[in-house]
This record gives sequence, structure tokens and C-alpha cells, in this order.
Amino acid sequence: SPEVGVLAVQGDFREHLSVLTGLGLATRPVRRPAELEGLAGLVLPGGESTTIDKLTRSFGLREPLLQALRSGLPAYGSCAGMIMLADRVVDAAPGQQTLGGLDVTVRRNAFGRQVDSFEADLDFAGIEGGPVHAVFIRAPWVEQVGPGVQVLARSPQGHAVAVRQENLLATSFHPELTGDHRVHHLFAAMVRENVRS
Ligand code: GLN
Repeated sequence: SPEVGVLAVQGDFREHLSVLTGLGLATRPVRRPAELEGLAGLVLPGGESTTIDKLTRSFGLREPLLQALRSGLPAYGSCAGMIMLADRVVDAAPGQQTLGGLDVTVRRNAFGRQVDSFEADLDFAGIEGGPVHAVFIRAPWVEQVGPGVQVLARSPQGHAVAVRQENLLATSFHPELTGDHRVHHLFAAMVRENVRS
């Protein structure tokens, strides 16, 4: 069975590993470059994007991650992971770098102080069976998308909060925290389709 890695330098990687395992996938926490070898997919979890950026650089993971993404490895980024996949960030911390690959501009901590965290039910293109319950925690939103990017879900205020561009999927919210695993199921389907092709 194809093995899916979860970047495990900071953030809620354990929750992603447990959801993916529950879906029947082989999983692997990724903390060193060698652990990227042979993966069929990669999850970039939520946490703090500035910390994830610093740690991936100090663990020697930045270059191998860039190579893996450039070579078309299917990847799913949630919240801070969405920021890591974004080509452009508004309100980035000084010196903050992303991996990029996803032709979007995200606004970090976009929803502002009064709604640091909130939950909402969202229609999600390509996911059947009713709205997806979404948990937002100091979440980014997607402010601008390039021509190859599909918006899959919007917040109640109308901001793009789930996007896909070929093998890259990203959500502003945290489906690993809700017990509803349909977003991970969608990513698992992307991984399996890629493995077949
Ligand atoms: N605000 C965080 C960041 O900028 C993201 C929060 C999250 O991942 N829950 O990275």
C-alpha cells in the first residue's frame, strides 16, 4: 500500500498520522531527509508556519522537500501547512519562507483577533454527503488564486479556504480534529490516482 508521510517537526502531526492510519494507509512521520524517500504523498500539518519553516531548514529538510514537491509528490497542507505550500504570503513574519508550489496568495492569521478560532459547516466541491464541519484556529485564508487553482470551499464570509492545484491540496482548517475524515479521504484518492498514473 502506498506510504504517506506527515512532516513531523512541529504541530499536530500525530492527529494526521492517526486519521491516515484509520483510512488504511501506511504512514510515516518525516523528520529527516531520508524519510522522504519512496513516499507516495505528504501531509504538512497545522502548527506555526514560522517554526515549521525554521525547523525544516535546520533539519536539512528544506531542499529535499522542495525537490519532492517540484517532482509532483501529492501533498496536502492544513492551516500552517497551507501557508508552507503557498507561493505568496501576506503578513508573513520577517524572513519567513515557504516551500511554495501552490499558485496562491494566503493571508496569515487572516480571520483576526475576535475570531481566533471558530467552526463552520462548508460545502466542499468534490466531497459528497453534506457539508464539511471545519475548525479554524488562527487560520489563513486564500486571498488570490492563479489560473490553475480550483477553489473547493469558502468560509461563511466568502473567503477561499480550500484549494487544489493538480497534486496539491490545501485547507485553512483542521479536518484532523473533527472525526470527519472526508478531506483526508479525498487526499488519499489523489495519492492513489498518482500512484497508478
Ligand atoms: N497562525 C499559524 C501560522 O501562521 C497557523 C495556525 C494553525 O496552523 N492552526 O502558521
